[in-house]
Amino acid sequence: MSSFEPYTSCTLCPHACAVNRLSGDRGICEETGELRLATAGLHFGEEPPLSGGGGSGTIFITGCSMRCPFCQNHQISRGGIGRVVDSDEFIEICIALQDGGAENINLVTPSHMAPTLAEYLKASRDAGLKLPVAWNSSGYESAETVEIAGKVVDIWLPDLKTLEEEVACRIYGIERYPEAVEPVLLAMADFGVPVVDDKGRMKRGLMVRHLVLPGEMDSTRGILEWFAGNLTGRAWLSLMTQYTPVGVPGRQLNRTEYEMVLGWLEECGINDGFVQDLVSGDDWLPDFRRANPFSSDLSRILWRWDTGFVRD
Ligand code: SF4
Repeated sequence: MSSFEPYTSCTLCPHACAVNRLSGDRGICEETGELRLATAGLHFGEEPPLSGGGGSGTIFITGCSMRCPFCQNHQISRGGIGRVVDSDEFIEICIALQDGGAENINLVTPSHMAPTLAEYLKASRDAGLKLPVAWNSSGYESAETVEIAGKVVDIWLPDLKTLEEEVACRIYGIERYPEAVEPVLLAMADFGVPVVDDKGRMKRGLMVRHLVLPGEMDSTRGILEWFAGNLTGRAWLSLMTQYTPVGVPGRQLNRTEYEMVLGWLEECGINDGFVQDLVSGDDWLPDFRRANPFSSDLSRILWRWDTGFVRD
């Protein structure tokens, strides 16, 4: 079977659109079988074991199978920013990130392109890529996708958005998200416990990210309890507090909610992981139409969809 066979009746995520993406058809993720990228660069705003001293080598992939209404990357997840890259250009991007000092290759929203990424990463390894590869996904992916990615991925970095069907339906429009994401996270944990080197840089394992939503404290509490019962000692938890209502009404997390979450973490006995400081304002929000979508403190762009390689 060709490595791209999964695109011919796509079930790479639980939407199971069954469209033939190799013929140019598109499912909910809106992407064909051609890999499109938006930007690549060194990112210093990830968790410390990912950013390290050199920055995480982020590669932003166009399209997404989820439609989170407040997505901070909406310009690329559903706005279509990006262009097709072939294997040679992908390899060149990976090697440029490695030569630029990246600690890892961090694939942002990769699930709908798993077969292509697996092929291109194998070729990148053959071309001299030595960095660990991180799978920075929504968690809404099929067992088949985890299996394909598992051949090339070292670090699993999935979201866990909610485990409540009502929240999944009301906020994310996918009632079945909880039943889909649980087995995915457990399968990722089966690849092995988190490993860091002598400089504290993550080399392997699972880090589950949860974005705390203002006013949805019960959902977060449920996640902490589930994590404590299922993944303690097998994974790290990263609690993100940067929710900003992009394109939707709402507010950011407040201090009372933040402290409530810190208390629950202690109650649940979760010690392995990270909690983001409380964020206020929206200065950090990316704008992918700018030469550097992030603040210059947070990132250095090495490649862009519209200009190609950025030379200093
Ligand atoms: S990745 Fe998911 S959303 Fe995209 S076509 Fe395949 S099943 Fe549909």
